[in-house]
Amino acid sequence: AETQLARAGRAAAIGLLAAGLAHDVKNLVQAVRSGARLMERRAEDPAEVRRCAGLLGDAAERGRRLVEAMLDFARGGGGEAEGQGVPLEAGQALLDLAELLNRTLGSGWRVKVVVPPGLPPARGDRAGFEAAVVNLAANARDAMPRGGTVTIAAWVEDLPESRDDIGLKAGRYVVAAVSDTGAGMDAATLARVGEPFFTTKGPGRGTGLGLATVRGFCTRSGGALLLDSEAGRGTTAAMWLPVA
Ligand code: ADP
Repeated sequence: AETQLARAGRAAAIGLLAAGLAHDVKNLVQAVRSGARLMERRAEDPAEVRRCAGLLGDAAERGRRLVEAMLDFARGGGGEAEGQGVPLEAGQALLDLAELLNRTLGSGWRVKVVVPPGLPPARGDRAGFEAAVVNLAANARDAMPRGGTVTIAAWVEDLPESRDDIGLKAGRYVVAAVSDTGAGMDAATLARVGEPFFTTKGPGRGTGLGLATVRGFCTRSGGALLLDSEAGRGTTAAMWLPVA
């Protein structure tokens, strides 16, 4: 059930990115169409034809890069055991993902990544980590319907004593957190999030699988997902992952 959930979460993450990508591709195709029309109309003017050809080439290159980034992400979900036992460079993974998220979340939202140099490697597979970040970023976006900044940060925490209440053993952790300044959650919602299929987004919009898969990824890696949220102020979802 755990791997099935992880697969569902990854599929959901790919779907979220693909929806954003579809929008970008539509704009690109539009640009190519008008470039081609202009070229037809100005066929007698070599300078203008050359300029249009340049624009068309640029659009094609942007399209290629978009699809390439998407494929890279999708390929990460390859083998089941892939990446297991390989230390996770969470900071680099976040920096790599930021570009893809910035292109796919939508034009009203911006992703800001704050990662210190020299972050130690953590436990967790990269594919699961990426899917978790995409799910959290999509939630952060949805919590700010009028747009805003999604902040993704990573840092190190030392836990001197075990905390059974939040499911963390004493030790050193890499924390990767996604924050928004959006709707936040009331106590009743907070108590239920992470339950598979719990969603407040309405039919056809939410699956209620996002946080359940993020939580599953964290516990599988020996860590935990901690949520800090206040209605009307925003949410920070922090993935605590043991240092490898
Ligand atoms: P989904 O996004 O498909 O609804 P999730 O498991 O990711 O599924 O989230 C469950 C619910 O938790 C959401 O419907 C929403 O009510 C709440 N939630 C999750 N993240 C946030 C957030 N960043 N801000 C406000 N509410 C959130």
